[in-house]
Amino acid sequence: MKRLHLLPIGNIAGGLLMQLAPALAQTFRLPCEILPHRLDPEFALHGERQQYHSSQLLQRMQGWVQPHSWRVLGVAEVDLYIPILTFVFGEAQIGGPCGIVSSHRLRQELYGFAPDQKVCFERLLKEAVHELGHTLDLTHCDDYRCAMASSHAVEWIDLKEPTFCVSCHARIFEAVP
Ligand SMILES: [Zn+2]
Ligand SMILES: [Zn+2]
Repeated sequence: MKRLHLLPIGNIAGGLLMQLAPALAQTFRLPCEILPHRLDPEFALHGERQQYHSSQLLQRMQGWVQPHSWRVLGVAEVDLYIPILTFVFGEAQIGGPCGIVSSHRLRQELYGFAPDQKVCFERLLKEAVHELGHTLDLTHCDDYRCAMASSHAVEWIDLKEPTFCVSCHARIFEAVP
């Protein structure tokens, strides 16, 4: 059976990955494993922006795709960007096989609040489900509660569920083996 592989990027906390794996396994109905490797993101650092180019990281991640990988999701804690945007929460290859998410802008302390691991995990799970949805060819959804709703701020992420609406769900589960 194919597996969803989580690839740690940089110094992402092991505890977050250990929480993410069973939640994603349940959502996508297949085993989820954390790869015993770590991708060093430094090659993708933009010196002036002090941010990491997510498309370059996605490109590099192709090397971790194995024959039994269903999808490979990179999980980072560095600030991600693509050149046309000030930042991204994550990015994915439409139709697969790789996606990437970062916890960097999902942390409450970035917005002047006390750290809250539960909030950070819930946001990370929603964004992970969102990017994996893109790897399954899903586009953005108009239902603000659906994981495929687009979010450019954490307030919008907080309105979403970590699950798909009925219509996105139906499309996904035709695609999952
Ligand atoms: Zn999206
Ligand atoms: Zn939807």
